[in-house]
Parts: sequence; structure tokens; C-alpha cells
Amino acid sequence: MITELHCHTTASDGTLSPAELIERALAQGVKLLAITDHDTTDAIEPARQSAGGRLELWPAIEMNCSEPGPYEVHVLGYFIEPTHAALQTVLARIRAAREDRIAQMVDRLQSLGLELEMEDVRVFSRGPSMGRPHLARALVARGLVADVNQAFDRYLAQGQPAYVPRYSLRPQEAIEVITAAGGLPVLAHPGLIGTDEFLAGYVQAGLRGLEVYYPAHSSEQIAHLEALAGHYGLLTTGGSDFHGPGGSAELGQMRLPEAALQALREARVR
Ligand code: AMP
Ligand code: ZN
Ligand code: FE
Ligand code: FE
Repeated sequence: MITELHCHTTASDGTLSPAELIERALAQGVKLLAITDHDTTDAIEPARQSAGGRLELWPAIEMNCSEPGPYEVHVLGYFIEPTHAALQTVLARIRAAREDRIAQMVDRLQSLGLELEMEDVRVFSRGPSMGRPHLARALVARGLVADVNQAFDRYLAQGQPAYVPRYSLRPQEAIEVITAAGGLPVLAHPGLIGTDEFLAGYVQAGLRGLEVYYPAHSSEQIAHLEALAGHYGLLTTGGSDFHGPGGSAELGQMRLPEAALQALREARVR
């Protein structure tokens, strides 16, 4: 069965609308889909309406969190109640901080002599959750960099001149709010974090799974993560992290072993 448990829409930094994403998923033969937009649940209802029962949809989210120092840690949440009040309060605060931070980065770019306004970024951020990829696309559109990667390399990545840190939750806080909203918290792409040292603390906070099957994970990393999941009694998930056509990944390219899918269904509480 072709599944996709990690992808983004125009509600965050994907380039397909929820309706377009549903059509592409169907065209790829995806039978089970979870949209995991960054810090917003806005795509879930329109996707449900577009799907009209043609595929199974799990409500989900990806929350971009951080550890002190250079660590970005993303926490996925599956089966969340999208309208859960405490969850939505936290998400609204994070999205406001996202936008403030991009405005500060635009100021920095202007100080560096680049001609760019917040309005240029809004052309690419039509949804509620603004991020650096929108700013990168605006820089490309303005002809100020050759492509998105160059935008990050020259200006937007940590350590580059336009980088501004932003308010984000600690992973434990995201784990708690996802759990409170009825969801299963899962550590996203652990291979990209590059360290297992935080994992015991996350499990103690209520982490339920690891995103083992991920395009950037090597077969050695997958084997290691499967073993870690076994050690801690964690569920395993997988997805492509599709952000749009022409990106590095295609919808449905990371399949989930049947047993992992079955375990997720059994762990579902709502
Ligand atoms: P933000 O949430 O605004 O901090 O932006 C983070 C997002 O930017 C990540 O989820 C990635 O999709 C993207 N990103 C981060 N670093 C890079 C990079 N070096 N090149 C391209 N995209 C990146
Ligand atoms: Zn993204
Ligand atoms: Fe992520
Ligand atoms: Fe993602």
C-alpha cells in the first residue's frame, strides 16, 4: 500500500494547494495521506473536502522546535484534534513569531543593500505559516540570488548575515501539546538532527515514534533508527517531506512497512 505521512501545502511552505496535493497524491497511487504543514492545521479541512473519501486522511502537523545551540528538532503529530484550543493557541503564537522573524530578516537584507519588501515575501506566503523558504523564493523572484539553495547559503541559513533566530517551542513542549490534542508525537527525520543524545528525554516527555523511513536517511541510519525504536518501544513512521513538484522528493516515495502501519492504527486513540 502506498502511503505518505509527511508533506506540505501552501498553508505552510509547500507549493501545491491542499486540493492540488490531493490530486497529485491520487495520481501517485497514495491510499493514505497525512499533511504535516509547519505549525498550522489549515490544510486539513480543505484537503478532506477535496478528497471526498477517495483516500484515507490522517490529521497531522509538523512543529519546528529547537534545542539550545545549533539543533533544529521537528516534531510530527498524528491524529491530532485540529480544533483543539490549547494546540491552536500555541500554533497562533508560533506563527506570529514566524512572521516577525521574517520581517526582521527582510530588514537585515535591506541593510545589506538588497531591494526587497515584506510584500515580495507575501506573494509566496499565501497561507498562515510564513517561513524562510518563502523569503528564499522572493529573493529568487527579485533576481537577487540564482536559486533557493543560494538564498540559504548566502543569506538565510544559520550563520549567514540575514539569519535571525525565532521563538520556537522546546521539543518536550511540542510533545506535550500534541499529546494533549489527542495526537501521537513522532520525532521527524532524526537522521538530520545527527544526535541521539536527546532521545531518552523526549521519550520521557511522551514521544511515541520515530520517522525512520525518510529520503535523506541512509540504509545504515534506517537500521540504526529501527533498532532505537525497538529499544525504546517506539512506533516507526515514514514519509517523503514533499514540498512541491520539482523538489527533491515525490509523494508516496517512502513506503511504510505493513507492520509499522498496523501498529500506528492500533496506537490511534482518536
Ligand atoms: P523556517 O521554518 O522559517 O526556519 O524554515 C525552515 C525550512 O527551510 C525547513 O523546513 C526547510 O524546508 C527549509 N530549509 C532549511 N535550510 C535550508 C537550506 N539550506 N536549503 C533549502 N531549504 C532549507
Ligand atoms: Zn517545509
Ligand atoms: Fe522537518
Ligand atoms: Fe517537513
